[in-house]
Amino acid sequence: MNEANFDFDLIVVGAGYGGFDAAKHAAEHGLKVAIIESREMGGTCVNRGCVPSKALLAASGRVRELANAEHLSGFGIHAAPVRFERQKIADHANKLVATIRSNLTKALERAGVTIIRGEGRLEGSQRVGVREASGIDRVLSSKDVILATGSDPFVPPGIETDGRTVFTSDEAVNLEWLPRWIAIIGSGYIGLEFADIYTALGCEVTMIEALDRVMPTFDPDLTKLAARQLIDGRDIDARAGLLASKIIPGCPVHIQLSDVNTRELKEELEVDAVLVATGRVPTSKRLNLDSLEVETNRGFVPIDDSMRVLVKGQPLPHLWAVGDVTGKLMLAHTAAAQGTVAVENILGNYRTIDYRSIPAATFTHPEISSVGLSELEAKELAAKEGFSLGSVRSYFKANSKALAELESDGLMKLLFRKDTGEVLGAHIYGLHAADLIQEVANAVGRRQSVVDLSCEVHTHPTLSEVVEVAYKQAAQQFKKAKSVN
Ligand SMILES: Cc1cc2nc3c(=O)[nH]c(=O)nc-3n(C[C@H](O)[C@H](O)[C@H](O)COP(=O)(O)OP(=O)(O)OC[C@H]3O[C@@H](n4cnc5c(N)ncnc54)[C@H](O)[C@@H]3O)c2cc1C
Repeated sequence: MNEANFDFDLIVVGAGYGGFDAAKHAAEHGLKVAIIESREMGGTCVNRGCVPSKALLAASGRVRELANAEHLSGFGIHAAPVRFERQKIADHANKLVATIRSNLTKALERAGVTIIRGEGRLEGSQRVGVREASGIDRVLSSKDVILATGSDPFVPPGIETDGRTVFTSDEAVNLEWLPRWIAIIGSGYIGLEFADIYTALGCEVTMIEALDRVMPTFDPDLTKLAARQLIDGRDIDARAGLLASKIIPGCPVHIQLSDVNTRELKEELEVDAVLVATGRVPTSKRLNLDSLEVETNRGFVPIDDSMRVLVKGQPLPHLWAVGDVTGKLMLAHTAAAQGTVAVENILGNYRTIDYRSIPAATFTHPEISSVGLSELEAKELAAKEGFSLGSVRSYFKANSKALAELESDGLMKLLFRKDTGEVLGAHIYGLHAADLIQEVANAVGRRQSVVDLSCEVHTHPTLSEVVEVAYKQAAQQFKKAKSVN
């Protein structure tokens, strides 16, 4: 087909963060762009993820702070008993969702992107079928196509959801009611954030984790400290090594807990509600990937470093994929960055993503964040490449700002190469950890050495001095290692 005969230069399927950034960036660079969305504009992040959950965390975090009489009395403050209105907290989240969704839609319209409401699918090379809400089905041609269809909550077999008593984060963000006793299945970041919200608002939580320790995806040393405050210090009963093998919705909800290995029934619980937070699965089943012989990996669309879709390891011309559907660090900022990179490649400017420098955060009170390699990954790399791994810890209890806030429980672990000083990763638990990690993420991205970083001056008194202390300790270790060799 002649270039001039295509309906569009670019069709993006899915208007979440990945699709949004790709479509806007392409339109701003002069391409004729359409975006197809089957649900609400903004995708998971705006409607069912980052945005409403952070709004709920902001409100419930304040309730927790004001209700913590012991903490407040440390400042000489005595507050009256705290009252809150659940519906108004929910409204705060809903209003924020509506505002951000509207801003995002307007930004696409302003950029000249054609918004098509319907379900998209591939119809062979450079062709996209779309079934609109009205039932009209048509096929459009496009020089390039980006798949940005995201992900949905994973509900394990044996668990039945009804959206009211047994639900996923899709419904939890609406905060329709506050169960007296809620079981949260999974202790990843979504489970932890909702445990933070529910306990702040007076609910009792039982947390069920199938793996052998709670918070299995977090640094083990950080977890010891974090779990003491975020789990043991709250109305949470956490159980690891147990599988929620059967859950039946109702009043009460029935839960069967089995041994992970033997599947032997261990315990039965009756609770008011269950939040299933057991991960997410890619939304790719209805994309008709077979029309281009694309084989997925458990539903994830395989891509190369420039976001081209792969078939049998080889890139397909004109087909790209970004965001959660590709399974790389399933976060909003990853999706957005991938969207921009895909478009840059379409425009002929070769670009790739440095996944190692993408930070991740859990917005509990206090927060948890990380960037780069885990300690285990760093040890494996050290063994493979034959260098010594450096590791230092910097404590919030030595930080003036954290002490002034009476929030000095916190730890930063910094991992670096002892031969070059290069920062490999960092893991932080403590006040504003989500903001602190960005500085290290930038250093990882630039492959900077702890020696250079240790010379950077940090504002006093700020939490950023926790990072400064880590860099200084690491630089000392590095210099010592050099003087020995
Ligand atoms: C509770 C929760 C909290 C989170 N908090 C954070 C956070 O704090 N920070 C962070 O970085 N990330 C967070 N995330 C993750 C973040 O939401 C996702 O990583 C991000 O939304 C992925 O963006 P995406 O564009 O790949 O996909 P999505 O946002 O899932 O968007 C995909 C879009 O494609 C549409 N679609 C699917 N199939 C089709 C089709 N065939 N045709 C047309 N449209 C289709 C969907 O309706 C959807 O709108 C959170 C997630 C959850 C669930």
